Amino acid sequence: MKEGIHPNYGECTVICGCGNTFKTGSVKKELRVDVCSKCHPFYTGKQRDMSARGRIEKFNKRYGKDSK
Ligand SMILES: [Zn+2]
Repeated sequence: MKEGIHPNYGECTVICGCGNTFKTGSVKKELRVDVCSKCHPFYTGKQRDMSARGRIEKFNKRYGKDSK
């Protein structure tokens, strides 16, 4: 490796939206993610689209559109 042209690759703390944190390797010190292996629906089996649906309804309400 040539010196000076590579960013410092080191340990990175990933912080998930669910509150879970884990370490990985990155040029960044800290990463924020929405889903991780702990809270992803595929692993948890839980549905996660409830809040998303609420957001769409809120949007439709605000702009006077009927979601039906
Ligand atoms: Zn998570």
